Amino acid sequence: MRRVHAIEVQVLEMINASAQSVDPNEFLCMMRAEDGVIMELVLLPGTVSGDSHGIIDVWMAPVDFSLCGSVHSHPGPSHRPSDDDLEFFRRWGGVHIISCRPYDMGSWGAYDSNGRKVDLKVIH
Ligand SMILES: [Zn+2]
Repeated sequence: MRRVHAIEVQVLEMINASAQSVDPNEFLCMMRAEDGVIMELVLLPGTVSGDSHGIIDVWMAPVDFSLCGSVHSHPGPSHRPSDDDLEFFRRWGGVHIISCRPYDMGSWGAYDSNGRKVDLKVIH
């Protein structure tokens, strides 16, 4: 998977708006990047947004190498990955964004497949 270094601000806004609209459930989808920049959210069949800690069924994902990772929301104050999240990140690879309340430009974090924080530049 190609290295991702930035995200379009519109994508972040869409993540926050979607997370806000399903709160107190979790929002969950995949992301697509071009030239290392996250440009698009990709909803997949098998994506759930429920109050259980939903994780995408990886095996439902089409083979699409432009997919760069996942995004999901935490209806709580922390965007730290849970143990389930870390397990998923490890299996999937790529970069993963978690957005938490209050779903603004400061309430998200990006993580690599080992659960380490990744610095993503926000492109305006
Ligand atoms: Zn999580």
